[in-house]
Amino acid sequence: MLENKIAIENVSKELEQCWINPFKMPFESVKGLSELAVSKEEIFDAEQRLLRFAPFIKKEFPETAQNSGIIESPLLEINQMKAALNNNGHKICGRLFLKLDSHLPIAGSVKARGGIYEVLKHAESLAVSNGLIKESENYEKLSEFKEFFKDYTVQVGSTGNLGMSIGIISAAIGFSVKIHMSADAKKWKKDLLRSKGVEVIEYADDYTYAVEQGRKASAENPKSYFVDDEWSKDLFLGYSVAANRLKNQLEELKITVDEKHPLFVYIPAGVGGAPGGISYGLKFLFGDNVHCFFAEPTAFPSVMLGISTGLYEKANVKDYGVVGKSNADGLACPAPSGFVTRIMQNHLSGDFTVKDKSLFNYLRLLYSSENIKIEPSACAGFEGAIKLLEYDNTKEYLKNNNITDDVLQNSTHIVWATGGKMVPEENFNEFLNTSV
Ligand SMILES: *Cc1c(COP(=O)(O)O)cnc(C)c1O
Repeated sequence: MLENKIAIENVSKELEQCWINPFKMPFESVKGLSELAVSKEEIFDAEQRLLRFAPFIKKEFPETAQNSGIIESPLLEINQMKAALNNNGHKICGRLFLKLDSHLPIAGSVKARGGIYEVLKHAESLAVSNGLIKESENYEKLSEFKEFFKDYTVQVGSTGNLGMSIGIISAAIGFSVKIHMSADAKKWKKDLLRSKGVEVIEYADDYTYAVEQGRKASAENPKSYFVDDEWSKDLFLGYSVAANRLKNQLEELKITVDEKHPLFVYIPAGVGGAPGGISYGLKFLFGDNVHCFFAEPTAFPSVMLGISTGLYEKANVKDYGVVGKSNADGLACPAPSGFVTRIMQNHLSGDFTVKDKSLFNYLRLLYSSENIKIEPSACAGFEGAIKLLEYDNTKEYLKNNNITDDVLQNSTHIVWATGGKMVPEENFNEFLNTSV
């Protein structure tokens, strides 16, 4: 439990650190218990649902046509970035990849997985129960029912990206949409949504508050559906589908994952839903050979606090004297998901915290070395890839998991880039010039 104590001290000081999760268990020993909450079959079912919707997605979003209506992103080896980081005095051992969810079609962020999936599932259930469509039919037909869906409202609380994904897909289905935005949300995200006819409600308060308001507003309307980022299993399932797709990409690249060739993933976390769902799916495919780390701003280490203290959703950064200000708007969640902190408790390897200053450095370095533009939130994963070999407790983690130097040489590291494609040019230029 020593790690827990250290983590909390550093949290209050807003210092960068890695917390190694003392509750992680061998995958096989906790798999059965986890499946009571989310089973492998449910993940498979989510994959099938997205396949059913592919013709509809292809029709509504021509940018997905080349991938037959499947919303997926490339996995790219970034040797130049690796060299640039190593030149800066770091040491990344093994191959370094970037998973470009920053460039997912439709929403330009990881939310194009969970958010879109949940809205599609809701639309399907309404369409099937009202006799508009059968599961065996071609879902392209769903484009004809916009008038029907207009009677129904979808609402969500968001710091920006979830609102964009829910707003855009809901508008395509025909739903009326209300997005409850926290004060962290960027203006261009709100403007973009309004241009699509989405109602954006702004609050001067944080994300937890915006979610609360959205949940309340939705409960007042029987024809309203609330996408609950803090508790939704469907969001989680939508994210988990990434795992199998990644496995296929690794196979195409002839990358082995086994005891002698471990896989490390570093995923930015807000409430934990996106990184949780992805990691959970990966655990079912690679078991103990995949090591899942989250990365959070030093100003919002909510998942780290939720799991390490055992307070789950009741953990709030404000209770630790943290100011809670960050340019990583996608990760600006003072409290974590109660659902995800519980389900990931035995699977998560650890959690890195990172300062905004480092995020902007990664952002600039990725742009100058690889010419790839991502947003500050999406850079958090780099912190893990670098610090894995720099902290005492991460070195100990490697040792405890029999990851010796020669095994490390054969390891694969995936930094999950979670957003950025839709950032307007002028905002990106601002990022390039930001020093904090
Ligand atoms: C939402 C988001 C995340 C994290 O997702 P959570 O489900 O909140 O943990 C990471 N990066 C970006 C850019 C996001 O928008």
